[in-house]
Amino acid sequence: MGRRRLVVANWKMNLTTPEGCGLVEAVLGMAKRRSEVDVVVCPSFVSLQPLGRSLAHTPVSLGAQDVFWLENGAYTGQVSTRMLVDSGCTYCIVGHSEARGRFGSEPPNPLSYFSDTDETVAMKVSALVYANITPILCVGESEDERGAERTDEVVAEQLAKALGRVAPEECSNLAIAYEPVWAIGTGKVCDHDEAARMCSFIRDKVTLITDSACGNQVRVLYGGSLKASNCAEIFAHKEVDGALVGGASLLAQEFAKIVLSA
Ligand code: PEP
Repeated sequence: MGRRRLVVANWKMNLTTPEGCGLVEAVLGMAKRRSEVDVVVCPSFVSLQPLGRSLAHTPVSLGAQDVFWLENGAYTGQVSTRMLVDSGCTYCIVGHSEARGRFGSEPPNPLSYFSDTDETVAMKVSALVYANITPILCVGESEDERGAERTDEVVAEQLAKALGRVAPEECSNLAIAYEPVWAIGTGKVCDHDEAARMCSFIRDKVTLITDSACGNQVRVLYGGSLKASNCAEIFAHKEVDGALVGGASLLAQEFAKIVLSA
């Protein structure tokens, strides 16, 4: 069976719960019109429970934007996989460039609070797989790394480390988002041929790290300044299994067009 396309809305630190509930109504309407595509909404932690109730028994799935790798304990401010399951989450973004402290545009201050490393990402992936939550693993190079022609090397290393704690047969449910850091929230979209090349490169690497069954099943998404006006040329490539959408997912009409184009 072919892979179903997947479109994920990353609302980041935007929208209160009432605002999110309003937008989710619109997302549900569009998902019904495009039943061939899996749609996931990732609100902030505080909106997970109410949105989980709104999305229960609907075609739209709930995702979190991050997770901590231990189940419970004295870890002030953290959220575990058990809490995500309890909220109705079936997906979780992990290793997002912002959570790694890698920002596309100049940060307003030294954002050392965002401290994910390849090692913490690996522990999060493993915890999610164990909890039966689909990780949406983000990988991608910075502008400097691309300039130094280190893109493939950086992405290959991120993948090898992130998948280092899971067995090959545990990886098939994974989604991986190729998200060049320089394209996140900057308005600079990656050239569509290059996005397709990177998605194909990622699939090849995952196949080498795991096995061919897993390599065939993993869904590889593109993320980075995707909008209604530029998504068609990205989606025209069969190597791209969908998208992780930030800014454009906050606008019902924009997101609708992206889902309908996927
Ligand atoms: C993201 O944050 O994952 C993302 C793709 O953001 P944007 O679409 O705003 O570039």
